[in-house]
Amino acid sequence: MKIFIIGGGFAGINAAKEMGKSISNEHSIYLIDKHDYTTMLPNLPEVVSGRLTKEDITENIEKLIPSRVKMLKEEVCDVNFEENQITTNDNVYKYDYLVFALGSTTNFFGFKDNIDKINVLDCLDAAQQVRINFLKHIETREEVNLVISGAGFTGIELACNLYDLGKKKGKKMNVVMVDLAKKVLPMLSEKSSNHIAKKFETMKFKFYIDNQIKQFDGENITLKNGEIIKDAFFCWSSGVKMPLKPIGNFEALPDGRIIVDEFLKLTNYSNVFIAGDAAAIKGSDGRMLRRAVSFSEMSGKHVGKNIAAKINGTEIKPFKPIDLGWIIPMYITSVGEVMGVEVRGRKGIFMHYVICGLKNYNLRNFIHEVFAAIKYPFTRA
Ligand SMILES: Cc1cc2nc3c(=O)[nH]c(=O)nc-3n(C[C@H](O)[C@H](O)[C@H](O)COP(=O)(O)OP(=O)(O)OC[C@H]3O[C@@H](n4cnc5c(N)ncnc54)[C@H](O)[C@@H]3O)c2cc1C
Repeated sequence: MKIFIIGGGFAGINAAKEMGKSISNEHSIYLIDKHDYTTMLPNLPEVVSGRLTKEDITENIEKLIPSRVKMLKEEVCDVNFEENQITTNDNVYKYDYLVFALGSTTNFFGFKDNIDKINVLDCLDAAQQVRINFLKHIETREEVNLVISGAGFTGIELACNLYDLGKKKGKKMNVVMVDLAKKVLPMLSEKSSNHIAKKFETMKFKFYIDNQIKQFDGENITLKNGEIIKDAFFCWSSGVKMPLKPIGNFEALPDGRIIVDEFLKLTNYSNVFIAGDAAAIKGSDGRMLRRAVSFSEMSGKHVGKNIAAKINGTEIKPFKPIDLGWIIPMYITSVGEVMGVEVRGRKGIFMHYVICGLKNYNLRNFIHEVFAAIKYPFTRA
């Protein structure tokens, strides 16, 4: 049989590891990714500020997967669940089992104004480009108007890291965060909300909630409330979507995430399993799981186990994810919840680096993360 994994992120690599050890050699396993390396995406903001580099947050995929899993560096252009077929830029493959784990990419929700001048943070190339663009932008300016569309986890981390970089270069930073929601990070407790509100006041971040970007002429931004922000360095972090829509009869959320059953497979295609950011998975509270490294690793491993069970003729098992929590570092503070306990302040920044370090593929990367944590200057804004 031929088993294909598409996507070599946290989900795909964990599926490959699991199947490599529990499926016999008579079956062929392939992993397709457009890059030969995988990226520790939670550290992209630190690539922007320069605290970490490409080498610190990537690893060659072949080093992470079992040698019997064949790595194919190709871009997937089309997936057809009806035909059991994957089309890449180079080849057409037929599969017996498929793990769909292509992650997610930026969603502009139909916004079209000067897209090529908008900065995004969804992959390593994009993070490196934001840094280059920002350094060029601030060269000729003493005061920088940074505008971020989207005041969620990623938008706030990006804002904090650009603020960090601008401050280090001696610039006056005016940060404007714009979000459609009526509250910033609505999942926070009142205590954490008040805590970050005070910290953002110190850094003079402005939050325009219940608002959105109406126009961008390449330099100036017009908000829904009519306000104009001139000479802006503009970043978009307002949402994500699936990188491609497969052909077939399946249900999906508006952002493209594919709805799976309790075994992480599709109801209409029992040989197709979805893992990581690409999957819409219900948690024990009935709500969809957020996109996170831990859930991607767990779901990847689980689909690997279930495909092995199907091939080996044993019982497939329902997926029971455990939520270990989350932390958002915010330059001079952090908020989060780890194992049900709320985290605030600078210790959260240290924990962020150490937790990322533990997930960061190899000892060298782990050591660099710990150094970055120790070196963190904790400058007062
Ligand atoms: C800036 C940022 C910060 C984040 N911070 C956190 C955090 O602090 N904590 C946390 O838990 N999570 C965080 N996340 C989310 C977390 O990184 C994702 O949930 C996780 O990486 C998803 O894993 P995945 O394997 O599904 O997808 P990915 O890790 O995105 O991997 C998908 C793979 O598919 C490949 N691919 C995509 N399209 C194609 C194609 N057409 N052809 C071939 N290959 C393709 C990509 O190259 C990639 O290797 C963050 C994400 C971002 C972007």
